[in-house]
Formats: sequence, C-alpha cells, structure tokens
Amino acid sequence: MEKLAAGVGREPRRLPTPGPGDALSPEYWDAVLRDPLADACPEPPGPPARTLRLFEISHHILRIGCRRCGRTVEIRKADAVRLSGPAAFWKSVGQRLLDDTCTQRTGRLEEDGCWPVFE
Ligand SMILES: [Zn+2]
Repeated sequence: MEKLAAGVGREPRRLPTPGPGDALSPEYWDAVLRDPLADACPEPPGPPARTLRLFEISHHILRIGCRRCGRTVEIRKADAVRLSGPAAFWKSVGQRLLDDTCTQRTGRLEEDGCWPVFE
C-alpha cells in the first residue's frame, strides 16, 4: 500500500483514464464512487408485479394465489410466455390460470371465479 501511495505521489494526475492493461488507481475508483450517478439505483422500484408484462418479469417461477379457495398456482415464466406471448400482462395470465382451475363455482357470474393475490 505504501508503494502504491508513493507511485501516486509521483504522478499527480487527478483522474487518469485507465487503459485495458492498467490497474485502476484509487483516485479513479474514488471518482467513480463520488459520481452522483453511482448512487442512483440501477433498478428503481418498479410498478407492482400485476401491472408487468411477462417479458418485464425477472423471476423464473410466477406465482399467484387465490384468496377464495386458498390455492396457489405456479407457472414457469417460459410456459406462460409460450401460452400467452411475452407481451401478455401477468395479471391476465394469472387470472386465467386461476379461473381455469378454480373450484369455487357458484353459478352466478359476478361471484364465480378466483380472487387473485399477486405476490
Ligand atoms: Zn379460487
């Protein structure tokens, strides 16, 4: 570390541009870390999962639950994309998944079907 500091002292460049073979200097990293953009979150908290399209979801397993019959249905994202296409909204894909398998059938349209809970 002393050697490194001495070397830096002889070359008082404030912000050296590192080449492919150069070791990155402490000043370089200092400048990088002080960059206000470095503080910006690269993935800002996005909208809730239910408003996402399939291709926007990074999980490999998609999960949706039903508040009504207590089931949880899982589907691999690859399967969901194959069924509905990458631009389909997970909300509608999940709703259809639940409806296809829901056991709560009242016979009344407004009450039939599952009550999805998106995780
Ligand atoms: Zn249900």
